[in-house]
Amino acid sequence: MKSPSNTHPRPSPLPSIPDFCPACDATDKPFASIQRETEQDFRSATFRVISPVLCCRHCGFDLLGPGHLDALRLATHDAYRRQHGLLTAAEISARRKAMGISQKRFAAYLGVGSASIERWESGILVQDKASDLLIRERTDHTLFLAPDESRNPITKTVFKPSIPPAHAVTSTPVKTTTTHCVSAPSSGSNPYPNSSHVISPAA
Ligand SMILES: [Zn+2]
Repeated sequence: MKSPSNTHPRPSPLPSIPDFCPACDATDKPFASIQRETEQDFRSATFRVISPVLCCRHCGFDLLGPGHLDALRLATHDAYRRQHGLLTAAEISARRKAMGISQKRFAAYLGVGSASIERWESGILVQDKASDLLIRERTDHTLFLAPDESRNPITKTVFKPSIPPAHAVTSTPVKTTTTHCVSAPSSGSNPYPNSSHVISPAA
């Protein structure tokens, strides 16, 4: 992670969590962070993903708070990865950490740009199939070390098979774990606000 020590603090255009609701005018700090299930389109497919939002407890109006856009993007990209048998962001990170090396060293080890590792692990970008195979080929040894080598931290991470059976890819039911802070607005066909409602810039 880059050190922010020398960066000039940017003034935030909006408070991290507004103390009023622009939809119902409630002024009693009505927003709470909840997990919201939404449909997201990515690469010509639609995925149901669960990610955090700020929800007004009075009217159900949703806002994306700090970090929520990143979380939504990560959830969407990971859903795509699972459907296509690609390593998720967490799985890539776990394989690297099992080797005990930094993103920069991992990039050199794979022969890819160091920015790629950061983007894959943060969910900003989805690795292509060739890169996915490269990561697997060069990290699969972390999966098959003998148990008596467990003292080596490289063996501490146990990976689940990341390619489910074909039938599971398309028919996995989505658990409805959405937390509704209030009944959703009747007109709210799209629970996600447009970009004008995003509280903080994604980057
Ligand atoms: Zn409200």
